[in-house]
Amino acid sequence: MTQPVFRFAPSPNGRLHLGHAYSALLNDALARRLDGRFLLRIEDIDITRCRPEYERAIYEDLAWLGLHWEKPVRRQAEHFSDYGAAFQVLKGRGLVYPCFCSRRHIAEKVEVIEAQSGKAWPRDPDGAPLYPGICKGLSSEEVARRIGAGEPHAWRIDSEAVRKRSPGPHTFTRFSPDGDEEVVEADPWRWGDTVIVRKDVPTSYHLSVVVDDALQGVTHVVRGQDLEAATDLHVLLQELLGLATPLYHHHGLILNPGGDKLAKSRKSEALFELRARGVTAAEIRQKLGFAP
Ligand code: GLU
Repeated sequence: MTQPVFRFAPSPNGRLHLGHAYSALLNDALARRLDGRFLLRIEDIDITRCRPEYERAIYEDLAWLGLHWEKPVRRQAEHFSDYGAAFQVLKGRGLVYPCFCSRRHIAEKVEVIEAQSGKAWPRDPDGAPLYPGICKGLSSEEVARRIGAGEPHAWRIDSEAVRKRSPGPHTFTRFSPDGDEEVVEADPWRWGDTVIVRKDVPTSYHLSVVVDDALQGVTHVVRGQDLEAATDLHVLLQELLGLATPLYHHHGLILNPGGDKLAKSRKSEALFELRARGVTAAEIRQKLGFAP
């Protein structure tokens, strides 16, 4: 049997909070239990929002929690060529198309469709309207001209073409920390023609994460329930790219006393703030259900 490989994959776009601590500690605990490896990956493709000081803070906070990870750490922004190669596979098979639309343009189009039909247009699991296919029918001449003129564009999955090639059912194995496993069906189509290469960076979260999990030999993905729906898309991408599908566990989220999800953007108390208040790492571990 291959040695299990777990990873914690934060984005350095803010300070870590208790939810991150839980995810990191759970990955570490499961890796220990299964005699596996524990990797840390820095997901910094978003070059406008990620900052070196947040990356340094991740190392500091995780070390303070008592975690040890393998080095060197993979930093996604150093590997755009790997994601580019995966993208070329999809492009070569005619499974993606370029999209020149702005978010506003899409929203306006969807408003018109909804007004005309009197029905709500479907949303993806993140709440964004499914792409209504505006750029899908562009001629190859127009595409070449606009790209040649330097017009910014993203690349979207052509879900209709993908569905023909890979109709499914798409499945993955969900595991629980108690060791239970069950095969579940993924529904990638609820993402519609989602963006696979962004306008501003030459990849996307979805593409980078499946490429890296495969390149790093990750066997067990342990991450929050907020990413559960993304797994449906990841399973499809793995199939299209010929990559192994790891086992998945989506853990419950740590909530604020008010019942809201902890998020960097909502100014939840960060680990360094707890530390400054005199809270110890042992107390955090205990509060989150891990041995001190
Ligand atoms: N980088 C993602 C985040 O910070 C996590 C990605 C993953 O675990 O798949 O939310």
